[in-house]
Amino acid sequence: MIDPFGRTITYLRLSVTDRCDFRCVYCMAEDMTFLPKSDILTLEELDRLAGAFVRLGVRKLRLTGGEPLVRRDVMTLFRSLGARLGHGLDELTVTTNGSQLARFAADLFAAGVRRVNVSLDTLDPATFAAITRWGRIGKTLDGIFAARDAGLAVKINTVALRGVNEDEFDALIAWCGQHGFDLCLIETMPMGEIDADRTDQYLPLSLVRSRLRRTWTLEETGYRTGGPARYHTVAETGRRIGFITPMTHNFCESCNRVRLTCTGMLYMCLGQDDSADLRAVLRRGATDDDLTSAIRAAIARKPRGHDFVIDRRHDRPAVARHMSLTGG
Ligand code: SAM
Ligand code: SF4
Repeated sequence: MIDPFGRTITYLRLSVTDRCDFRCVYCMAEDMTFLPKSDILTLEELDRLAGAFVRLGVRKLRLTGGEPLVRRDVMTLFRSLGARLGHGLDELTVTTNGSQLARFAADLFAAGVRRVNVSLDTLDPATFAAITRWGRIGKTLDGIFAARDAGLAVKINTVALRGVNEDEFDALIAWCGQHGFDLCLIETMPMGEIDADRTDQYLPLSLVRSRLRRTWTLEETGYRTGGPARYHTVAETGRRIGFITPMTHNFCESCNRVRLTCTGMLYMCLGQDDSADLRAVLRRGATDDDLTSAIRAAIARKPRGHDFVIDRRHDRPAVARHMSLTGG
């Protein structure tokens, strides 16, 4: 699949649920309304759609959400997708808040998963509770160590929040170094109505990086995972640190990905509203050829890039949907 700007699409992010056991302040409002079950693709439908993407050249699949590991029987999906590894698919991964990882780490490994991204914005239990509203840090930390012990490579994702965790990045780098985890810092993106004021939360990573350089030697690397992160090696720990900067750096020129929501909407860009309704195609009784044509038609509309801006006067989200719908 090659889009109108010559980018080859090899990566599908698949959101398997809009639900979550946390209510992170930058991601959701506390009183979120979730979708009725009939709107959500069944595990069989998710598997069939993923299969169509793999036939079209997708080599990497990431399951996300909402919280993917709270979806009932999600391991069945991991196993069926894992069976595609080596048959067109190179990698199956997951992004999780870690709360259920202690339970599932071994099963994920058995299904063929080798890397997991775990979101952890702080090492402080009170700050963790304040950010996630409903989470407890102990469960997430247990999950992280269970994943490592099961043989999964762990990358920690940390959203940089002004005045909330900005004093903690040194500690997180040291902690990741000590335990053998890579770290990725993420700028907040204006997606969906939340209760907080986004202009208060936004912390530019250009500033964070220059602060970190006072303590750490950040060596440039050419390492890419095909994603938007720019990676450095922290000389003192030997681990990588990535910076995802949608607000300060436009990473769209190398975009290799599309996103499918749990309702079967295919979003060609995280920061744009255009989508294709693959559930409608599927539930009309589509043949594999119909699915392929619908996906190809959508890819032909992939936009050049996003135009996120923090609108300081109105503080309106750039796109109306929440990150939990497309999974980041
Ligand atoms: N629940 C899982 C988790 O938290 O890892 C997977 C889904 S979550 C939507 C995926 C990633 O998006 C997480 O790392 C989360 O911190 C990040 N995220 C959520 N809302 C965001 C926002 N408004 N701006 C930037 N990152 C956001
Ligand atoms: Fe849930 Fe992940 Fe959103 Fe937090 S960031 S509320 S864990 S989906």
